[in-house]
Amino acid sequence: MSHLIHRQLRHTPPVADGGSGLYLRDSEGRLYLDASGGAAVSSLGHGHPDVLAAMQAQIGKLAYAHTAFFTSEVAEDLALRLAQDAPGDLDHVYLTSGGSEAIETALKLARQYFVERGEPRRSVFIARRQSYHGNTLGALALGGNEWRRRHFEPLLMKVARVAPCYEYRDRRPGQDVHEYTAGLLRELEDVILETGPERVIGFCAEPVVGATGGAIPPTPGYLRGVRALCDKYGILFIADEVMCGMGRTGTLYAVEQEGVLPDLVTLGKGLGAGYAPIGAVLARQHIVECLRAGSGAFQHGHTYTGHPIAAAAALAVQKVIRRDCLLGAVTVRGGVLRRMLRDAFGGHPHVGDIRGRGLLLGMELVQDRENKHAFDPDLKLHMAIREQAMACGLIVYPMGGTIDGRRGDHILLAPPFTVTEKDLGEIVSRLQDALERALASVRC
Ligand code: PLP
Repeated sequence: MSHLIHRQLRHTPPVADGGSGLYLRDSEGRLYLDASGGAAVSSLGHGHPDVLAAMQAQIGKLAYAHTAFFTSEVAEDLALRLAQDAPGDLDHVYLTSGGSEAIETALKLARQYFVERGEPRRSVFIARRQSYHGNTLGALALGGNEWRRRHFEPLLMKVARVAPCYEYRDRRPGQDVHEYTAGLLRELEDVILETGPERVIGFCAEPVVGATGGAIPPTPGYLRGVRALCDKYGILFIADEVMCGMGRTGTLYAVEQEGVLPDLVTLGKGLGAGYAPIGAVLARQHIVECLRAGSGAFQHGHTYTGHPIAAAAALAVQKVIRRDCLLGAVTVRGGVLRRMLRDAFGGHPHVGDIRGRGLLLGMELVQDRENKHAFDPDLKLHMAIREQAMACGLIVYPMGGTIDGRRGDHILLAPPFTVTEKDLGEIVSRLQDALERALASVRC
C-alpha cells in the first residue's frame, strides 16, 4: 500500500523511474512518449543536460538562503532575464514555487495596490465561468470550474463571472466572429457596471485557455477589447500564463501575439520546465512603484521564494530556448502537428474541434459533430482515453468536468519544443489507437 495521498485514492499510478528526451520510463521498464509534457510543463523534455548542469553547479554554490535576509545572484539574473524579455514595462518579478502560488501572489499584489492608492473598497475580481487558475483556496475561488470547486463551497472570495471566449461552442451559426467578440465584451462591461467599477480590482483570464477547455485561443480583438475596458474603468488586467506562457504558443508570452500589455502576468509550469517547482508574477512599473512610494513593502512572502536551485533551472531553460531558437521551432512544429491532427482526425465522427496555438493543441470530443453534443459524463471518456493512451505508451492530458454547466471531454497535447516531425507522427499514430480503444471501451 502506498502511503502517499494520490489524486485517485483507489488506484496507485505506475512508478515513474526515469526520463530522457521525449520519453518517461516506469519501474517495469515500460516507455511512455510524453506528448503533453505532463500538463504542458516539460518544454525541453526530460533530462536536458544544460539544465541539469546549471542545477548541479548551483547546488554546489548555494542551495538556500532565506529572502528575509538575502537575495541571490541567480534569482536576480532570472528576474533580469524575464523582465528584459517581457513586453512593455513588465519589469518586476516575484518568484514563487508554482502556478497557484503565483496566482495568490498576483491577487495580493493587486489588492494591496488599490489599498495603497487609497481605494480599499475595491475587493472584487472578475473571471470567466470556464476557467482554472489553480487549486489553493484563493485561486480556486477565482477559477470558475464547478467540478473542481464542488467540494469546497463556500469559497474564500466572491468572484463576478463572465462567459469564456469559446467560439466553437458559443458562436451562433451565422454569427460573425466580431459580433460574437463584441457580445463578450459587452457582457464584461455590464458586469463591471453592475458590480460598480469602484469595487472592482481586476479581470483575470488565460490568454490561451489550457486545462479547462483544451487549448482555446482568443477570438481576434478579444484581449484588446478586455484591455480597453480595464483602462476605461481603471481596473487591472491579470493574464494567467501559467500554462500558455514561456514559449508554449510560439512567443515567450502568449499576450505578445495579441498586442496587449497586462498589468500582471502569472507564470509556472514551463518556467522551470519540470526541473524545479517554480512560478513567477511579473508586474508593471506602476504597481510596484505605488507600493514602493506607499508602505514601501509588499505584505507577502513564502519560505521558498526565489529558491536558488529552482531559479538556476529556470534561467537555464530560458537560455536553451533562446540559444536553440526554440520559439520559432514551436511555431513550425505546432503547424506540423496541427496538420497531422487534421489529417488523422479531421473527419472523425467524434472529434468536434481541433484547435490551439503553437505547441498547445487540443481536440474536443463530441457524441455528435452536427449538434456538438458532449458524451454522457458518466462514461468518463477522458479517463478511458488516459488509460488507453498509457497502454499505448503515450501520455496525453485528458480533461472532462463541468464547463459552464456543460460537460465535455478534451485532449490536450503539449509536447516538448524539441519534438521532431518523426516524433509527432508517432504521437498521432498512438493517439489514433488510444482514441479508438477508448471509444470502444465506453461503448460496451
Ligand atoms: N493557472 C493555470 C492556467 C493552470 O493551468 C494551472 C495549473 O494547471 C495553475 C494556474 C496552477 O498551477 P500549479 O498547478 O503549478 O499550482
